[in-house]
Amino acid sequence: MGSGTPAFGKHSGKMVHIRCRRCGRRAYHVRKKRCAACGYGETATIRKYSWATKTIQRQRIA
Ligand SMILES: [Zn+2]
Repeated sequence: MGSGTPAFGKHSGKMVHIRCRRCGRRAYHVRKKRCAACGYGETATIRKYSWATKTIQRQRIA
């Protein structure tokens, strides 16, 4: 599957990740109620690894 027409079928589903309240990334799982990026809702400490240091990009579309 490419990133063209067949991939657009996935756009019709329910929203999985919304903007995280703690890290600002669009990684907060709506149903699981935890953030995939910072672990909000799962851990009290912010989930952070040296091997996964993506710059936190805020101001994303929720
Ligand atoms: Zn987060």
